[in-house]
Amino acid sequence: MPELPEVETLVRGVRQELVGKSFVSVSFLRADIREPIPTLRLKQILTSQPVHSVTRRGKYMLIHTSQGSMGVHLGMSGKFVLSASSQERLPHTHAVFELVDGRQFRFIDPRRFGRLFSIECEELNEHPFLSKLGVEPLNDDVNLAKHLFQSSRSKSQAVKVFLMDSSVVVGVGNIYASESLWRAKINPHVSAKQLTSKMYTNLARQIIKVLSEAILAGGTTLKDYRNKDGNPGYFQLNLAVYGREAKPCRKCAAMIVKTTQAARSTYQCPICQK
Ligand SMILES: [Zn+2]
Repeated sequence: MPELPEVETLVRGVRQELVGKSFVSVSFLRADIREPIPTLRLKQILTSQPVHSVTRRGKYMLIHTSQGSMGVHLGMSGKFVLSASSQERLPHTHAVFELVDGRQFRFIDPRRFGRLFSIECEELNEHPFLSKLGVEPLNDDVNLAKHLFQSSRSKSQAVKVFLMDSSVVVGVGNIYASESLWRAKINPHVSAKQLTSKMYTNLARQIIKVLSEAILAGGTTLKDYRNKDGNPGYFQLNLAVYGREAKPCRKCAAMIVKTTQAARSTYQCPICQK
């Protein structure tokens, strides 16, 4: 499943190709994905004016023109790739956005949990998909440590569950929560409100580092990347704990333990993360 680093890498690639350019045509090969696609409105937004910016909010990519914006969410299996128009369309291509030079961005989503939606200029931050999102961990204007400390004071839930709550902070999915807690030597089961401000300072630093490393590891996702099994793949960090049950901890060689929290797998070192 694409996580924040994949989406950020995608946004950077799309931004480089798209800002200042116009779409000559936009076509939809089906009327709905997870929800109905506002096909007419998206055509109006995207074909009347050049794209002036491409941004990210959580796991949403937002493509803006002066007429409004298109929101793109990749869901479980979605991809947004750049292809020559002569290139054969892959199965499950649901939308085609053609540029003046003939190249096409294509939205492909076999499992159809993705979203393509329109946002009007005046509702950019109030749109229902965006309005409840927490802070951006990689935004320079955000003091992540302070935010996590302050928002955790009344939270008795486990710190890992707290980190994965997208109304607190976006983009800390299961993998990144497990990895950053291991790096910060914090037990994922400890109640969020029990951690000190100093612990959150360290944890915030590790979250930012883990996400930044994943972005660096990603390279470009505009090409149709497939893993060795031939499935569409997403990039991953060299993981230290996630998925390493019963394997030796990379710091102390103790066996990594797997537990379940809020129906998600948690991996932890019983020695480093007491
Ligand atoms: Zn260890």
